[in-house]
Amino acid sequence: MAKQQFEAESKRLLDLMINSIYSKREVFLRELISNASDAIDKMYYLALTDDSITFDQSDYYIRIDVDKEKRQLTVTDTGIGMTKEELASNLGVIAKSGSLAFKNENEIKDGHDIIGQFGVGFYAAFMVADHVTVHSRAHGEEQAYQWYSEGAEGFTIEPCEKESVGTTITLKIKENADEEDFDQFLEPSHLQSIIKKYSDFIRYPIKMELSEQ
Ligand code: ADP
Ligand code: MG
Repeated sequence: MAKQQFEAESKRLLDLMINSIYSKREVFLRELISNASDAIDKMYYLALTDDSITFDQSDYYIRIDVDKEKRQLTVTDTGIGMTKEELASNLGVIAKSGSLAFKNENEIKDGHDIIGQFGVGFYAAFMVADHVTVHSRAHGEEQAYQWYSEGAEGFTIEPCEKESVGTTITLKIKENADEEDFDQFLEPSHLQSIIKKYSDFIRYPIKMELSEQ
């Protein structure tokens, strides 16, 4: 499938983030967990108004998995998922969360302020990952889709297999470089401390295997 381009604003903010924000790379996990939690919230609200959906608390959780060999970190949720169209529109427009509008108005020079105050959301994944793959199956859909991107160049979407509704986001963690330690993001105990720091208030269980895999 032909590669689709990010919107121009998205590309600018993505470049800004990847190139100028180094100190707080760890917040990518907060952003992914917050999206996972939002997606579960949406199922919960749907269940309130639709009798055919039962919301059993134990079916809804966020799971973090690490594969050190493959340098992969995955964040899985059992939330509402995304359709093909939603993958393209929601993950293709960065300005949605309002971060960029704020930046334009206030001429912020330091990208760190943007991320600190607003969170730039999903794109934060590219601060630690060479490429990101999203597998998602939307509630009410049989077909799942895979979204793939190596960053500012754009993204592709194609059909894939996925047994259950929800979303799995896979990050290929960057190799260590110079002073930069990316290996820490493949260390469950370190991930646990990041989760404690930023995501302690999340209302759904966050599951992670702490032992070596
Ligand atoms: P924001 O959360 O501020 O809307 P993000 O960049 O974090 O901005 O996410 C963009 C959009 O992508 C979300 O609003 C949501 O519609 C969709 N999205 C991201 N992650 C998920 C997910 N895990 N499940 C379902 N939808 C998601
Ligand atoms: Mg978000």
